[in-house]
Amino acid sequence: MKILVLNCGSSSVKYQLFDMADETVLARGLVERIGIPGSVLTHRPTGKNKLVREAEITDHKAAVRLCLEALTDQQHGVIKDYSEIGAVGHRIVHGGDFCDSVLITQETKAIISDLVKLAPLHNGPGLRGIEACEAILPATPQVAVFDTAFHQSMPPHAYTYSLPYELCQRHHIRRYGFHGTSHKYVALRAANLVDKPLAELKVITCHLGNGSSITAVKNGRSWDTSMGFTPLAGLTMGTRCGDIDPAIVTFLMEKEGYTPADMDRLMNRQSGVLGVSGVSSDFRDIEAAMAEGNERARLAWDIFVHTAKKYIGAYVAVLNGLDVLVFTAGLGENSPEAREAICRDMDYLGIKIDPGENRVRGQEKEITAPGARVRTFVIPTNEELMIARETMAFVQAG
Ligand code: AMP
Repeated sequence: MKILVLNCGSSSVKYQLFDMADETVLARGLVERIGIPGSVLTHRPTGKNKLVREAEITDHKAAVRLCLEALTDQQHGVIKDYSEIGAVGHRIVHGGDFCDSVLITQETKAIISDLVKLAPLHNGPGLRGIEACEAILPATPQVAVFDTAFHQSMPPHAYTYSLPYELCQRHHIRRYGFHGTSHKYVALRAANLVDKPLAELKVITCHLGNGSSITAVKNGRSWDTSMGFTPLAGLTMGTRCGDIDPAIVTFLMEKEGYTPADMDRLMNRQSGVLGVSGVSSDFRDIEAAMAEGNERARLAWDIFVHTAKKYIGAYVAVLNGLDVLVFTAGLGENSPEAREAICRDMDYLGIKIDPGENRVRGQEKEITAPGARVRTFVIPTNEELMIARETMAFVQAG
């Protein structure tokens, strides 16, 4: 079966077409600047020349149509017609109380639509992608795969905030957690690499990128995770502040006259390593600035490393031990310096990495030091493949 995976952002659509017989990627591509002058599609078919097409792309429906035209293009295409696509899997960030992927029906679409209020920046574009496929591929099953679903297994004491209970119930305020598809993929892959069922392992997965989150996995289930009601919580990130004393919010609103929208912008876009360093949100720039002696870049880096260490330590306590530690995503896969700094002086917990093995960038590798109790891995994440697998499983199950 061939599965199309769509990941719709506010002005972009990323896609991959998988042949699930051997889980190979037939083509991948990206439509950028939807609704903005200069829209462009970049289509990369496996084993063929890439196609770059500039066109006026006014909305997500036009973008999805362009992706499908590229997939069936005489020269650059990889399928003859749309009927070869067995199902479409959509990455949807917020799944609310959904604890698994769902088939798109009028009913599930209404629920996803209702969830736009919890994640307007993310769920709105996802919904537009679903509607585009309904219009263009009306007979093809569609499945929504949620970033939050893996974390629905958390126990109530991990997901409930200590605020008035009824108020939280009324507004659906709880820890949801995000990056779930990535955490699940790398946790399963790690179990595979140590040749044990995930259900028998205590695992901590570190998804460290522009947005970062750390998850404790116990009995094969997400047991706790650092992101919360929104993806703002947890670690210091590229531009997001992560955990701060909540009283700072009202303090700043009073002192500076900030509105809720101002605070939202400040905490989501102007904070994190960018806000502290004043240099950049990109860890490559932070590492370069540190090498030149920039003190604030060093401080931003140290804060990031410190918060990552704290979450790992806390989750070892929550799990009552640790078998496997995994690093993934942009920084986790590509920065030996970040992995080394986070794992330094963790031998008390049984974590020790081998400096030579840790030189790896962007490849799957075990980096455990000889004799260390915890096995540590770098595992490139593959959210698209996970979405394709979940979509196929769902369609096959009828
Ligand atoms: P992601 O959000 O997973 O795409 O990760 C993006 C982030 O990963 C970037 O902002 C960088 O900070 C970081 N990153 C990517 N490649 C490298 C690298 N070679 N060295 C250090 N950081 C990197």
